[in-house]
Amino acid sequence: MQVDYLIIGQGLCGTWLSWYLKKENRSFIVIDNNKPVTPSKVSAGIINPVTGRRMVRVWMAEKILSFSHEAYSEIGNFLGITAISQRNIIDFFPNAHQRQIFLERMEEGEEYLNSYPEQNQFNPFFNYELGCGEIRNSYIAHLDILLPAWRQQLKDNMQLHDEVFELENLIIKEQSVQYGDITAEKIIFCDGLSSFENTFFRALPFAPNKGEALIVEIPGLPNQHVYKKGFLLAPLQSKDMFWSGSNYQWSFPDAEPTNQFYEQAERHLNAWLKIPFKILDHKASLRPATLERRPFVGLHPQQTNVGILNGMGTKGCSLAPFFALQLTNHLLYKSEIAPDADIKRFSRILSR
Ligand SMILES: Cc1cc2nc3c(=O)[nH]c(=O)nc-3n(C[C@H](O)[C@H](O)[C@H](O)COP(=O)(O)OP(=O)(O)OC[C@H]3O[C@@H](n4cnc5c(N)ncnc54)[C@H](O)[C@@H]3O)c2cc1C
Repeated sequence: MQVDYLIIGQGLCGTWLSWYLKKENRSFIVIDNNKPVTPSKVSAGIINPVTGRRMVRVWMAEKILSFSHEAYSEIGNFLGITAISQRNIIDFFPNAHQRQIFLERMEEGEEYLNSYPEQNQFNPFFNYELGCGEIRNSYIAHLDILLPAWRQQLKDNMQLHDEVFELENLIIKEQSVQYGDITAEKIIFCDGLSSFENTFFRALPFAPNKGEALIVEIPGLPNQHVYKKGFLLAPLQSKDMFWSGSNYQWSFPDAEPTNQFYEQAERHLNAWLKIPFKILDHKASLRPATLERRPFVGLHPQQTNVGILNGMGTKGCSLAPFFALQLTNHLLYKSEIAPDADIKRFSRILSR
């Protein structure tokens, strides 16, 4: 079988890359082993314009927000699903210092922050003695719907191989790559953590970051917002179901859920929520983050028929579609990849 591209992985990166290649009428096969727990399957799907304790704008916020909204809406329309919804974040100030930072950033003119006028609106549901603000232009990407729907689309078109990709069976030729009976012009690794061990890319400065989350049933809590007070509560598509998390761990013995997180999150929910809730699930995964918090996108400097789309870290929902399009345009039209993301910046270590 002869195709233009062989894509490894159907998380956020492989989904978006295959979508843009499809739009360009290119032929491809995606190999994905359908692992039950991956960062894309554990993710809350949140796309927000400000981040961190200091409420600074996320990298390329202006471009990325409108781009993401359009991209998810377009793929959603194609698949006949709702792939994205605007869900502004209600930020309940956890302490006086955080409140002060929010108000200062608003006074400085940060247009994504709003003093929420209906301060008492959430009184029936939450304890929040220090008030709340609103983070506007925030979205939830419904990955629990989008990823299986796109997988089904690929299956229907005979473009998905549900199996483990074995790197040792890959043969790199001068103008192509060979994997079993598949001959492709190029192979692109969208395989998340697996790339950390991949002989082509393991020299890249990956820095996996562990995150955990609970799936919680909260009957009666309105689902028009994401709620934040240290932890986040983000509505899922099923009635009364919410995602709650997360933490950011740079050092950990394994990728398994921990009792420590479960107990901390349960305590937090008990103190924050006024209404009953039930914890239904507990998940953990490793974010494919990078030391300098910028993605890895592009073709290997020496093996130019081998590429990568990875390193999306904590922002895969917005960065994956954005850089999947840049990579597609680079592959097809030789257009530039943003220098901060292009793996060209690591040419020296990748050429050793
Ligand atoms: C707890 C948590 C919460 C998060 N919340 C958010 C959020 O709210 N917003 C946000 O933007 N980001 C969030 N993220 C980050 C986001 O999930 C990641 O950046 C993103 O999912 C990475 O996608 P990926 O496609 O690179 O990797 P992956 O999701 O790991 O996808 C890789 C795919 O490749 C497959 N694969 C790997 N190796 C092989 C092989 N050898 N053969 C076959 N298949 C293979 C895997 O099974 C998988 O399907 C969160 C992450 C975590 C852990």
